[in-house]
Amino acid sequence: MANRSFSFLGRDMAVDLGTANTLVYVRGRGIVLNEPSVVAIDTKDNKPIAVGAEAKRMVGRTPGNIQAIRPLKDGVIADFDICEKMLRYFILRVHQRRFAKPRMIICVPSGITGVEQRAVIEAAEFAGARRAYIIEEPMAAAIGAGLPIHEPSGNMVVDIGGGTTEVAVISLGGIVSSESIRVGGDELDEAIIRFANKEFSLAIGTRSAEELKIALGSAYPLQEEARAEIRGRDLQTGLPKTVIVTTEQIREALNVPLNAIIDAIKATLDRTPPELASDLAQTGVVLTGGGALLTGIAARLQAETGMPFRVADDPLYCVAMGSGACLEEMDLFARMLKSGPSR
Ligand code: ADP
Ligand code: MG
Repeated sequence: MANRSFSFLGRDMAVDLGTANTLVYVRGRGIVLNEPSVVAIDTKDNKPIAVGAEAKRMVGRTPGNIQAIRPLKDGVIADFDICEKMLRYFILRVHQRRFAKPRMIICVPSGITGVEQRAVIEAAEFAGARRAYIIEEPMAAAIGAGLPIHEPSGNMVVDIGGGTTEVAVISLGGIVSSESIRVGGDELDEAIIRFANKEFSLAIGTRSAEELKIALGSAYPLQEEARAEIRGRDLQTGLPKTVIVTTEQIREALNVPLNAIIDAIKATLDRTPPELASDLAQTGVVLTGGGALLTGIAARLQAETGMPFRVADDPLYCVAMGSGACLEEMDLFARMLKSGPSR
């Protein structure tokens, strides 16, 4: 009997369907899956040949008939059919006992439309959910970062993902003001690509740009600036070429997308009632999502807004942990969940 109730507990799941990474949290167990949101498709018959990490390794090096697709690239569902296949693949990998119908909470970028939300709920139900619920990403991020969202004080969370940045002020369990922009880590990578093109006439791929961002990128002056080699292909001759870049140059290149994020934060603060805004000046703002790991981001945001910022513990896991917390205590968080018609 004890065994049986444990397996019941183990089936409900929460999915962080991110533009860059998908995480699955299983009730009573925690995060059991963490894979890039990438699907490799054989263009001859449109069948997926790899999903997740295996598919991401193919990005930029696929032969003609294989295409690596990120179905949620710009924070919206760019390719619904592929998105549904990916979601189904991840769910089935975690949920082997198809006859047991779990409840499922799916966390999606808040920029997606109502129609897309319904479509995600349907995909989850198609993949075997008894009942699927949607939670807004900044709410899940705030819960995962441990913010006291049920209290009457103001809490602000900024989640910088791959395709989007979500800014929200939360009080008494609800979102008071928010802003969602289609600028995130991908735009930082693209800014590095544009910089290499313009400055050195050098072509580099998105994967190298992301590696450069993680290794050398920063948002605020470093104690010790450094220089490093970047390798790519000369745009004129087509031949391999290596150039030297400095951390100052990379930081400069990141300014355009970083300023868009700063503007979104300022716009949200402008729309926040004064009482809550003054709470925020005390409690500060929490950063979540992979973009929170960019070196110096908290210092930069603090300098630009005059508010204290801190990076959450394990920023890449906050949304999954927060939607997992909702799953563990659905009654407590019922207000934050949106569901389709019950069946
Ligand atoms: P999403 O929720 O949209 O799937 P994530 O929260 O998983 O996005 O964050 C992915 C983004 O975080 C990517 O753009 C990735 O390049 C970026 N990222 C991950 N680690 C770092 C790091 N150490 N420094 C800067 N950016 C990072
Ligand atoms: Mg996310």
